[in-house]
Amino acid sequence: MSEKELIADLVGIVGDAHVARDEASRQFVAADFFMSGPVPMCVVAPGTTDELALVVRATAKAGHAVIARGGGLSYTGGYVPTRPGSVTIDTRRLDRIIDISPANMTVTAECGVTWETLIAALAPHRLRPPSFGPTTGRYSTLGGGLSNNAMFFGAANRGTAIDSVIGLDVVLADGSVVRTGSGAVRAGAPFFRGNGPDLTGLFLADAGAMGIKAAATLKLDPVPGGIAYASFSFARYEDMIAAAADVARTCLASECLGVSPYVAGAPGAATAPSLHVTVEGWSQRIAEEHAEAVIAVVAGRGTSIDPVLPKFVRGQPFGFVAHPLDPKGRLQIWTHGAFPFATAASAYRAVGAYLDGQAATLRQHAIDASISIAIAGTMMIVEPVLYWSDVPSEIHRRGMGPLPATVSSTANAAATSAAREIRSGFKDVLRRVGAAHMQHGKFYTLDQTLQPATLALLRSVKQTLDPDGIVNPGALGL
Ligand SMILES: Cc1cc2nc3c(=O)[nH]c(=O)nc-3n(C[C@H](O)[C@H](O)[C@H](O)COP(=O)(O)OP(=O)(O)OC[C@H]3O[C@@H](n4cnc5c(N)ncnc54)[C@H](O)[C@@H]3O)c2cc1C
Repeated sequence: MSEKELIADLVGIVGDAHVARDEASRQFVAADFFMSGPVPMCVVAPGTTDELALVVRATAKAGHAVIARGGGLSYTGGYVPTRPGSVTIDTRRLDRIIDISPANMTVTAECGVTWETLIAALAPHRLRPPSFGPTTGRYSTLGGGLSNNAMFFGAANRGTAIDSVIGLDVVLADGSVVRTGSGAVRAGAPFFRGNGPDLTGLFLADAGAMGIKAAATLKLDPVPGGIAYASFSFARYEDMIAAAADVARTCLASECLGVSPYVAGAPGAATAPSLHVTVEGWSQRIAEEHAEAVIAVVAGRGTSIDPVLPKFVRGQPFGFVAHPLDPKGRLQIWTHGAFPFATAASAYRAVGAYLDGQAATLRQHAIDASISIAIAGTMMIVEPVLYWSDVPSEIHRRGMGPLPATVSSTANAAATSAAREIRSGFKDVLRRVGAAHMQHGKFYTLDQTLQPATLALLRSVKQTLDPDGIVNPGALGL
């Protein structure tokens, strides 16, 4: 079948208005913040699960790759095509909230809905998923978050986005729609994930390699009635990390984020590392008691400071990160490794030593660095960030809100290229210290990191679900 015939089929399924063939639309989805690939054949936006299934079936039958893209706000190549002639699926018309059940404490929604829309729909019921989205949730989607294992709001004591999932509707490579969890019981309902082996888990944190998520059921928590904040400053990053682990072990924090500017060659020379904690409770009194407990746990390691940052964050969740540039209008790129509490400090040290080795390059290109940390359940994320000046790309301009006036109009390809090299080095350093990852995409890739028997099992699952390798080829390294 020719590309022309396939496009005619796709137009027949979703309508002409929902198959973008123009160069600009196709180029836009061929690149994320840091990686790019061959421009896809077209961008298709199905409006229902049935349409999604028909699109996947038609594309697979024609032998073309099919790739899901939500808000496009990831930076590990997850939706970047690896083959010419791919079909990109824009999931954002699949945005219905199908069912809110305060009785069962569940919500079922289509996966193109944004986190912000989902949380707003739940607000009148005073309910929310335990882990309730990334900072980009105004623009990023439920499906992107579940594929990338997103974390931020509620994550410190409730884990990542995938920990909230009860079941999924997934479109497989052959166009069939598979339901997982107790919702797959004949005449059953979606209220419970563990009805037999965890088939739901096969499709979570998968970078969209296993199938395309059409809908998800999440469990819900009551929205706590009280909120309080605590922030701390430290003399040394080791104290910040130890304090974060102590806070995590209280299980009281909804968010726990550490910020540590890094001067290569002079660890600890920049602004003091700081830790920012949000705690909640059934009532304001309980939230304040929780905050006191957190302050008591950190006492001795750090100094309490005004909690401006966590208050600012919760003052406008999903709005406080307005655009993808840093406060000075520079480009920024994040790399991360996930570690158990006990090894996070050595991972931080390894990243710092690597940055020290890059000091001349950083200076030459005026690239700044910081190393953030964050807690999600039993995991501490160590996240080096690079900041430099260059002209923003299309996804910078169009992916989130308007860019600040300070944005650069002077091209600086040499700095971007140096940042790319350094970032690749971060990945190697993090790998050497045993990092796990959240958003694998096509950057971290499980084929480089898993033990052979585990990788063989994963490959055989992929082979079963997608024998011709047409669903997001290259994602996870498969
Ligand atoms: C400024 C900034 C701040 C950020 N902050 C955070 C943060 O706080 N926490 C965090 O975790 N991340 C953060 N991120 C990263 C990113 O926003 C998240 O990973 C987000 O969840 C991506 O969602 P998306 O809808 O944009 O997905 P996309 O980028 O469109 O896709 C991500 C991956 O999911 C796959 N995919 C998308 N939809 C589906 C579907 N329906 N079925 C199957 N596969 C699918 C894609 O193929 C791709 O592999 C940040 C990014 C930026 C730029």
